[in-house]
Amino acid sequence: MTDQPRPAVPFLDLKVQQARIAADLRTRLDRVLAHCQFILGPEVTELEDALSKLCGARYCVAVSSGTDAIQIALMAENIGPGDAVFLPAFTYTATAEVPLVLGATPVFVDVDPRTFQIDPAHLEHRISEIRTAGKLRPRALIGVDLFGQPADWPALSAIAAREGLFTLDDLAQSFGCTLHGEMLGTAADATATSFFPSKPLGAYGDGGALFTQDSERAAIYRSLRTHGEGTTRYEVLRTGMNGRLDSMQAAVLLAKLAVFGDELASRERVARYYDTHLGNVVQTPMRVADSTSAWAIYAILLHDFAERDRVQQMLKARGVPTAIYYPCPLHRQPAYRDHHDGTALPSSDKLADRILALPIHPYLTDAALEHVCGSLRAAVG
Ligand SMILES: *Cc1c(COP(=O)(O)O)cnc(C)c1O
Repeated sequence: MTDQPRPAVPFLDLKVQQARIAADLRTRLDRVLAHCQFILGPEVTELEDALSKLCGARYCVAVSSGTDAIQIALMAENIGPGDAVFLPAFTYTATAEVPLVLGATPVFVDVDPRTFQIDPAHLEHRISEIRTAGKLRPRALIGVDLFGQPADWPALSAIAAREGLFTLDDLAQSFGCTLHGEMLGTAADATATSFFPSKPLGAYGDGGALFTQDSERAAIYRSLRTHGEGTTRYEVLRTGMNGRLDSMQAAVLLAKLAVFGDELASRERVARYYDTHLGNVVQTPMRVADSTSAWAIYAILLHDFAERDRVQQMLKARGVPTAIYYPCPLHRQPAYRDHHDGTALPSSDKLADRILALPIHPYLTDAALEHVCGSLRAAVG
């Protein structure tokens, strides 16, 4: 027997949630087992209706993952070789991967060091750099709502409109967040989200969705997710992909939607607890003005790499798990650095060295929160 310390605090707890929704979940899954329409069954349509209603988007197209949602959105705009796709350097790899898969070039933009969101002023600077260099056509912006908070969509949309860019909102981490009193889902030309199990609204497998206000785009998304099909299954209009959502995942998501609002409120409760008890100990996340967060991740900043390393080890020893999102900004990753033009992205670099994510989920108890905060105070002090 090894005497590894058992984590006292779960970083994420999907079992408590499962127990809460168990009865509804069983009923819904049994219904799928009874009708046997496993792909794009009635649950998928029900989910699309519920999600579009919730976030106020006219159209929702459920797909196989958040990454596939991004890919379908860019394929629909025929984005490919010679096209520049602007996106933050401080995000999950999926955001940058898709433009490269389609032969386009990701152009990395720095982030605001306090909110961690893509910096509109630096976006403008990058667009003018790319125009001056003259090698790539500025085509699209993928704005990411990082960690649960909304990006500065009013500023981003104004720049994109002036520059003629297609805007895609990568809402994978932040479905449920609001900006100026409205839930995100209609801030850009299209919005992509993810139902990866650890996201605020997660399935029991892969899943994602696209939102748009544009009926033509929605029709193309539906066609692209099913191999580019036309009005009949065997008419192929365009090069598509297998990007469909299955009925089991939709059933799980419908059961989770019933408690989603309550869970968002509970995540906010956890975040406020951390704000109150850690605000004078470490740098806690700055709130985007006039917004609410889905709190996918609660990230604090330590002074430097050495302090973060020390604090992370000390927390681990006390049974407090932490995570680093992201230890390396995308422009320094082996897969992307050869595609980067060398522009300095100092805020992304610094965040990678200093950031540390604390446990956050709707079912964290007060005792667990007290333990996390006490341990962190001891580690920093
Ligand atoms: C999770 C995530 C994705 C990808 O979603 P998947 O469903 O895992 O494919 C894309 N962008 C961001 C910012 C993410 O966090």
